[in-house]
Amino acid sequence: MTHPAQPKASHFINGEYVEDTSGTPIPVIYAATGEQIATVYAATPAIVEQALSTAKEAQKAWAKMTGTERGRILRRAADIMRERNHELSVLETYDTGKPLQETLVADATSGADALEYFGGLAGSLTGEHIPMGEDWVYTVREALGLCVGIGAWNYPTQIACWKGAPALACGNSMVFKPSETTPLCALKVAEILHEAGAPAGIYNVIQGMGEVGGALVTDPRVDKVSLTGSVPTGKKVYAAAAEGMKHVTMELGGKSPLIIFDDADVENAVGGAINGNFYSSGQVCSNGTRVFVQKGIKEKFLARLAERTGAAVLGDPQDEATSFGPMVSENQMNIVLGYIEKGKEEGARLVCGGNRADMPGFFVEPTVFADVTDGMTIAREEIFGPVMSVLDFDTEEEVIARANDTEFGLSAGVFTNDFSRAHRVIGQLEAGSCFINSYNDAPVEAPFGGVKASGVGRENSKEAIKHFSQVKSVYVRMGDVEAAF
Ligand code: NAD
Repeated sequence: MTHPAQPKASHFINGEYVEDTSGTPIPVIYAATGEQIATVYAATPAIVEQALSTAKEAQKAWAKMTGTERGRILRRAADIMRERNHELSVLETYDTGKPLQETLVADATSGADALEYFGGLAGSLTGEHIPMGEDWVYTVREALGLCVGIGAWNYPTQIACWKGAPALACGNSMVFKPSETTPLCALKVAEILHEAGAPAGIYNVIQGMGEVGGALVTDPRVDKVSLTGSVPTGKKVYAAAAEGMKHVTMELGGKSPLIIFDDADVENAVGGAINGNFYSSGQVCSNGTRVFVQKGIKEKFLARLAERTGAAVLGDPQDEATSFGPMVSENQMNIVLGYIEKGKEEGARLVCGGNRADMPGFFVEPTVFADVTDGMTIAREEIFGPVMSVLDFDTEEEVIARANDTEFGLSAGVFTNDFSRAHRVIGQLEAGSCFINSYNDAPVEAPFGGVKASGVGRENSKEAIKHFSQVKSVYVRMGDVEAAF
């Protein structure tokens, strides 16, 4: 019998599901059991062509609609997503293995927030009037044209919406390629947008590996590429986009610092460290995986952290009582277990976890290492799994320098009850998305993105509008034209 997660077809192009089984089969594996629950097929060159030509053609009429009309469609899509939240959350759990307890509140809901927020902004995207004596300049905020979105596997619904909603609000069309590891959820986003009234061809989803992503990025009809992925992929995609002088947004990886001062509230700091390391089994780009703890609070912090981490419920992710799911894939599990071995070998002290969980599926125990030093591999490289490194520090000046000593710059957090210190420290940390006495909040109203190797551009908030539109300026002369000859 067909599993309920199996989509009608692999791709969604020009307002309908499209299949081409001559593409490379991509098995969809449920991470909690290891069983294959669905199959999709990578886009063939014919499918890529169909998606790009249809999106190019459909964009013109879409951009001519008023912003209010476009916004109404996005807001209707948001309402449908909320009505179907349960069904979409179950699918998100099949796609990623993340527990239903999380997906019910973090995925379709945050996708709906993006559709609603950018739907609300769409009617207010205007230019400026700039007086120049009796002449004037006016500016027009225009769509970029055809945008390509490429997703990572940790938040398939959210990423499809975080890219699609601002792109469509500005009058662009989109071809979105989800990660080959989680191909299911973006198809639902496309289906819902069209049900809400999006004209055929405005939002298309095609499947495939890096090769298909590469074909999209290099096509001359594409005006913008927005990628969520790792730094090495980001470098390749950014370079390929530069060849065609295309706009880019790069949301890449991190190794973010979370700094806990002696005067912090221990329970809140432990809560922040748990949210910043173990949510989605640690598969979150902004995670605060280098937890710097001032020496005076260290033992108290570690004791409560171990106690509270011990309360994680590993199990069937479709059971709402489960609070901690598997790694997205066997491959990712092996990468994470490899880092844990490295941590042990390089002399970090294992406080809790440290093993593959003794159950079916790709579960790794939530793991905490203490006495980690700056040079250890687990303190330098992005692991993208539930592995927290706790490092000691003495002074504010020292911890700022050590926190910034990384190629990454996505996020940073500070826990302290001294508010002038909190702002002083945050002001010096090299990161795009920061937190004071909190960690990993990502509301659509706030800009999200990184500095240094962690990325270029911002998603969410009014900032995202700037990255999905461009400004035309028009000088209007009222009098005669003077010329030298
Ligand atoms: P990845 O870089 O392996 O793949 C990302 C996407 O790029 C996939 O869809 C993949 O098929 C595609 N791709 C690969 N090679 C390509 C190429 N040459 N041209 C075009 N597309 C190509 O990343 P992943 O393993 O899926 O995701 C994990 C990474 O994503 C982590 O580094 C994580 O930090 C990062 N991430 C960042 C954010 C953010 O918002 N900053 C959010 C989630 C994940």
